[in-house]
Amino acid sequence: MASFTSPLDTLLPKRSGPRPRVAVIGAGISGVALARALHSAGYPVQVFEKSRGAGGRMATRRTEDGGAFDHGAQYFTARDALFQEQVRRWMDAGLAAEWNGVIGTLEHGRVTRSEREHTRYVGVPGMGAGVKQLAEELALHREVRVERLEREGPAWRLFAESGPVPGVFDVVVAAVPAPQAVPLLAGAPGLAARAGSVRMQPCLAVMARFASSVELEVDAAFVHGSPLSWIAREEGKPGRRTVHPGEERWVLHGSPEASREALEDAPEQVATRWVEAFAAATGRDMRPVEAVAHRWRYALPAPAREESFLFDAASGLGACGDWCGGPRVEGAFLSGVALARHLHSR
Ligand SMILES: Cc1cc2nc3c(=O)[nH]c(=O)nc-3n(C[C@H](O)[C@H](O)[C@H](O)COP(=O)(O)OP(=O)(O)OC[C@H]3O[C@@H](n4cnc5c(N)ncnc54)[C@H](O)[C@@H]3O)c2cc1C
Repeated sequence: MASFTSPLDTLLPKRSGPRPRVAVIGAGISGVALARALHSAGYPVQVFEKSRGAGGRMATRRTEDGGAFDHGAQYFTARDALFQEQVRRWMDAGLAAEWNGVIGTLEHGRVTRSEREHTRYVGVPGMGAGVKQLAEELALHREVRVERLEREGPAWRLFAESGPVPGVFDVVVAAVPAPQAVPLLAGAPGLAARAGSVRMQPCLAVMARFASSVELEVDAAFVHGSPLSWIAREEGKPGRRTVHPGEERWVLHGSPEASREALEDAPEQVATRWVEAFAAATGRDMRPVEAVAHRWRYALPAPAREESFLFDAASGLGACGDWCGGPRVEGAFLSGVALARHLHSR
């Protein structure tokens, strides 16, 4: 693969002088964009991520038989020039592609195709491919869930379940969903309160594998009059591997209301109900070979705050993510970028 560069590598103007030590908590697109821009400008940056890798809600679940599902973000759009440039570089590197699937609406068995209003992109081979690539050069500590911060002189020390994390930091950024940022921002109560004011909607997602085609005339649809709000066929997206020819893999997203109601239900129960809702919405009585549920407790902000990031100069604590400035993938990227610019301009 050709060497991969990002517009984030030249985002911040060259400057001499010492750089603060920065910890970024969360390796979703916002935290990785922030960390990559700072790293390229010479900042000592460390990223801490509770899961096994970068990408966050731009997530792909691989099943035992090798099939994969994008069970979080479904696609992204690019309106801002910098993000468009990032997407172009990803496409050049084979890490993203336009998704020209047929998308429509679905209501009680009736499918209506929608006009394409904007270009939709997906990561290739999975949604988070580009974020993983951006994170490759970073000091990324996987499977570290940061629980709290403590002052150590003028700096901060991070604590995970297993105890203190090596190193101290002048600046700590919570690049995590708003409710998860609250405890991390305890040292800046004003910021913690602002993060605490953001509500995030849940989404229960079901990944269902069918032995034969569901024979819908769309690759994905917004669903009305159903506990589901969105359905999408994995094979309809570019660069997805077919494991068993003839099979179809569908992602079924519950609406915010139905997801909230079923949030604490057993995953098997959710899988059964969402498959039933799929059958009712499509008018096809299909039995899946396998159906697995995933709970996104914090899927989307409702609504996002207006500021594109939070930062408290006195404590050195900050936050970014899709709940700052603009929701969704592009908004999260731009939130990380805005905070990088702010930190570099101080
Ligand atoms: C079901 C669903 C569907 C969506 N559909 C779309 C869509 O179609 N289009 C679109 O543009 N957007 C969509 N989104 C939203 C999009 O995924 C997000 O806006 C974007 O990915 C958010 O990025 P982020 O960096 O702000 O946060 P995240 O991606 O959530 O990243 C935060 C990271 O922080 C980590 N973390 C959290 N707490 C800690 C801790 N204490 N210590 C260490 N690590 C921690 C998490 O594991 C995660 O990796 C969807 C989201 C979901 C869940």
